[in-house]
Parts: sequence; structure tokens; C-alpha cells
Amino acid sequence: MPQQEPDKRIQILIDTMKHADPSERKQIAKAFEFSKQAHEGTLRASGEPYFIHLFETSKILAEIGMDSTTIIAGLLHDIIEDTDVSKEEIEKEFGKDVLFLIEGVTKLGKLKYRGLKRHTESLRKFFIATSQDIRVLIIRLADRLHNMRTLKYLSREKQIRKSNEVLEIFSPLAYRLGMRVIHKELEDIAFSFINPEEYQETLELLKKRKKRDMKFLEKFNRSLKKALAKEKITKINTSFRVKGLYSLYKKLNRKDGDIEKIYDITAMRIITDSVGNCYKILGIIHGTWKPLPGRLKDYIALPKPNGYQSIHTTIFTGDGGIVEIQIRTKEMHDIAEMGVASHLVYKGNKAGDILSQMMWIKNLIPGVKKEVETPEIIETVAPVWIKELGKEFDKEEESEDLLEEVRTDFFEHRVFAFTPNGDVIDLPVGASPIDFAYAIHTHIGSHLSGAKVNGKMTSLDTELENGDIVEIITKKTITPTRKWLEMVKTSEARRNIKAKLKINKSD
Ligand code: MN
Repeated sequence: MPQQEPDKRIQILIDTMKHADPSERKQIAKAFEFSKQAHEGTLRASGEPYFIHLFETSKILAEIGMDSTTIIAGLLHDIIEDTDVSKEEIEKEFGKDVLFLIEGVTKLGKLKYRGLKRHTESLRKFFIATSQDIRVLIIRLADRLHNMRTLKYLSREKQIRKSNEVLEIFSPLAYRLGMRVIHKELEDIAFSFINPEEYQETLELLKKRKKRDMKFLEKFNRSLKKALAKEKITKINTSFRVKGLYSLYKKLNRKDGDIEKIYDITAMRIITDSVGNCYKILGIIHGTWKPLPGRLKDYIALPKPNGYQSIHTTIFTGDGGIVEIQIRTKEMHDIAEMGVASHLVYKGNKAGDILSQMMWIKNLIPGVKKEVETPEIIETVAPVWIKELGKEFDKEEESEDLLEEVRTDFFEHRVFAFTPNGDVIDLPVGASPIDFAYAIHTHIGSHLSGAKVNGKMTSLDTELENGDIVEIITKKTITPTRKWLEMVKTSEARRNIKAKLKINKSD
């Protein structure tokens, strides 16, 4: 083989990673070249080599601090779908874990948003349920983020469809996983395609307001540092953050379009070294500046369902300005920006640690056999916010029932299967193609003659699994038999079969 100069992007990718030991670097470089070769000759809609997409996806994963297995899977995530490389080859070259992640991503990719409101809830649940390993979902989000960044090259129709999927499925998921950075960017890009005029208007409004606020913020920042230094607090970092455009747009709609009623368009962040200092800083601020009533929120003592922790307050600066302030520690800050991704990397960089942390996530997912794993699993208790993943997604406003008992068994008894059109059918664990057929329509159930699961003919007593695509074959002459009763789990199917059996008897 002719020796070539190594691609500069390999080093970029490795430099972006938080941790990478020499053997991990080697694997990354290998996956990089492997993927580049496998996709050779294929172009994207932008006219660039297809491989650009794989590099950018894995770079996003490195930026949010994912482990090398995930980054490698990111480089290879389209390989099964788009090239002739076999699963066996992937497993041989990169191991079981990488193959597992790629297969998960491929499966999720088959899912299409059908524009049915009643299904989006199931779809989101399904996404989490089939991901099995939360890293699958994170790769899918990085993949979609890069596709959104290059959406301008696609047809108007695709722009709208993909943007709708983002607003309905992907950005709420990123939010639920606490991945603020990804959530915000996804949402803002989708907004710009779906509603270009209002996007521009909101952008103008934001620019104007930002200019005004920055004057107050910078002045306040100086007085604040002085006030804190007087109390011997010097270990702080301050920065400013600006609200996302789509989130501002939604809030404007709730406030009758009156931007003066929105106080958190810009905010000041104070990052310090301990929880104790967070409260101390709050005390100093409230002792020096007058707070706006009703704006103090202690998300440190009571975290948001997605794990977000911070103290928020809004104060009058004394010279006509009103400023929102967010106080948190560095660890809280990383979690606020990267969410679940930071949980996966925070407590060390060894794969074993990550796997043990994955265990509680796995426990929340149906269909995953609860293997008796090594007894030294340290963390088996899921943080409250992960348990909350199983709850309703629609309440974006923070839930006040954090202290309520959370339902942990949400997924344990459900299986999500698909029609060939991509509609989700929500069934109990152990359900068969007969249950599936009756769930679609009584008529389809009653004339069921056979079923294909994932393209293969199967017997009617097959237990369906998460993500199965089920095609029902009907014949007019077929009617239910007594045997079917032993193969069904839903009361819907049972009731209909019994009804038919009775009619047939009286014939
Ligand atoms: Mn992709």
C-alpha cells in the first residue's frame, strides 16, 4: 500500500477529546481511515465527500466529552447502511461495543416522523427505549446536529420535514437529557427553516436587547467582583449567556409579544468552586442589590428534572438595569451544558466506570435482559432526573412534584413495534403479531394469515421485541382459532377473538 500523509483531521479529533490514552488514539485513527475508505467516492448534497459528515459527527461527540468507543461509533455510524462493509468485519476490527452502538444508531435511523401528533409521544419514548444504551441516542443527536448545520443544501421539502422532526423529537430529547448546547442549536436551526420571517424578527429583537443589556452587565460585573473580593471570594468566573432564539420566540408568544416582560434574555453566570460559596455569593448579592420579588429559584437544593442545578435570581442594578444572575459550581455548569454526556464522563475516564454508570440507565429500559453483572457495580441508584425520563415529555415547564414518588417501571412492561410505514404500536411485553394486528384494526386481526417480522416470515406466537417492524398479511377466508387465545397478551385481541369464536360456533 502506498504510504500517505496522515489526515490532519485525525489530530484535530484527538485534540478535541477530553481523555485519550495511546491505544485509544490508535483506534480513533484506525476508525477514521477505515470510514474514509469505506465511504470513498460518495458525495453529500453539498458536493463534499460524504466522509465530512462522519468526521463532523464524531467531532461533536468529542466536544461534549464522549468516550472513545462512542467517537469511533460516530465515525462508523453510517457504514452498515451505506457501504458493503459487513457487521462481522466491524466487530473484528473494532469490537462488540462499537458494533452494538452502530446497529442501534442504524435502527433508530429507520424511524421517520409521520406528522401524527398522537404518535410523537410514543416516538420519543421509543427512542429512549430502543436506544438501550444512552450513547446510541447521543450519537443520533450529534448526527442530526451536523445534518441540520448543512440543511441548506437540501430541498425545501426535506428542510421542513427534518426541521419538524427536530422540533417534535430531537430537541425535546436533547432537553430531557440536559444537553443544553445541542438542544439550543438544534432548535434555532429548525426555527430558521420553518419560520424564516419570525426567525429574523426575533433575531433583530434579540440583537437590540443584547446591546442594551451588555452595558448594564459589564458595569455590574465590575461592581460585583469588588463586592465579592471584600468578602474574600475571589475564586469565581463570570460570563454572559444569551437566550436561544426559538426559546425567546416561544416566551414572547406567552407574554403577548412584550419583550419588556422577559428578564432572562441575557444573564450573568457566576461559576465558583463550592456549593457553600454559591449560597455565600447569593447572600452578598441580595445584601448589596435589591432583588426582584418572586424571581429567586434554588435549583441547587431542588434540581430540574433534567438534572440542571443552579441558583437563579434577578436584581435591580440601581442604574435602571435589571439583570438575571445564575450561580453554580463548575461541575453543575458542565452538567448544565452537556447533560447526560457529562454524567458519563465525569467520574473518570475508564470504560468500566462508564459501563457501571450505564447500568441504572439500562435498568430503565425494557427488553434488556437484566444480566447478573459483576457484583462490584457501584452506582445502581438512578438519579431522579433519569427516572423522570419515563414521565411525560410535554411539560417543559418544570415539574413541581420532584419529591413525589417517581415511576421507575415505566418502560418495563412495554414493547414498541412498527408498521412498515413507521407508525408506532405500543404493546405489552410478550405481545405477538396477533396482538399487533388487532392493535392496528379489528378487521386486520380477524383475517390475519401470517406475519413478517423485520422482513422474515415468522410464526404467530413470536414474542415481539422493541423496534421490530411487523408486516401483517391478511386473507379474507381466515378467521381466528381457539389456539390464538394462548398467543395473545392484550385484552383487545382476546376480546375480539372470543367474539369471533362464538359467532363461528353458532354458524
Ligand atoms: Mn449520519
